[in-house]
Amino acid sequence: MDTDKIIVAASRNKHKIEEIEAITKKFGMSIISRDEAGVPKIEIEEDGETFEENSFKKANEIMKLCGKITLADDSGLMVDYLGGAPGVYSARFAGEDGNDEKNNEKLIKLLEDVPAKERTAQFVSVITMVFPDGETLVARGECPGRIILVPTGDNGFGYDPLFVPDGYDKTFAQLTSEEKNQISHRAVALKELEKLLLARK
Ligand code: IMP
Repeated sequence: MDTDKIIVAASRNKHKIEEIEAITKKFGMSIISRDEAGVPKIEIEEDGETFEENSFKKANEIMKLCGKITLADDSGLMVDYLGGAPGVYSARFAGEDGNDEKNNEKLIKLLEDVPAKERTAQFVSVITMVFPDGETLVARGECPGRIILVPTGDNGFGYDPLFVPDGYDKTFAQLTSEEKNQISHRAVALKELEKLLLARK
C-alpha cells in the first residue's frame, strides 16, 4: 500500500483529531480537517441505529465529497440498566437543545434509585476509515465502568464526570487526558485501527 497518504477527518473535534493522528502518522498518513480538504460545510445527519452505521455514513459521505481517504468516529455511552441508552443518542439525550450538563442531569435522574452495582455502563467508539475505492476499515473500542450519581472532576467533556472506569476509583473527569487516553474507548478503537492498518500493509 502507498502509505504516503492524506486522511481527511470527518470530525471537527481537535482533541479527537490529535489522538487519531498519533496513530495514523506511524503509517505515513497525515490528517487534515474536512475544511482543509475543501469539503462544503454540510451537516451530516447521524440517523443510524448503531455507532457503526453513523461512523460509516460520516466517513463515506465526506469521502465522496473530497475523493480522499476519510476517517470518522462515532461514540457514546451505553448504560446496561437503561438497555444500552443513551447509546447513539448520547449527544442529544436531553433533546436537540440540550448540552452536557442537561444530559448528565437526565442520566442521574433515571438512575437515582438504582443500586450502585446495577449502574454498569460502557463507553463505545467506532472509528471507520473509507478509501476512495470503497475499501472500509471498522475499528470498535469499548471502555467498561460504572455510573455515579454526583458529578465529580473538571477534566474531559460529556459524561466524563459520571463515569468511573473499571479498575479505578476516579471518574474520567478526574483523570488527566494522558491517563484517559491510555484506557478510553477511543484509545482502544485506535489500537484496533492500528492492527487493521498493519494487516493491510
Ligand atoms: P460524537 O461521537 O462526537 O457524536 O459524541 C457523542 C456523545 O457521546 C458526546 O457528545 C458525549 O456526550 C458522549 N461521549 C463520547 N465520548 C465521550 C467521552 O470520551 N467522554 C464523555 N462523553 C463522551
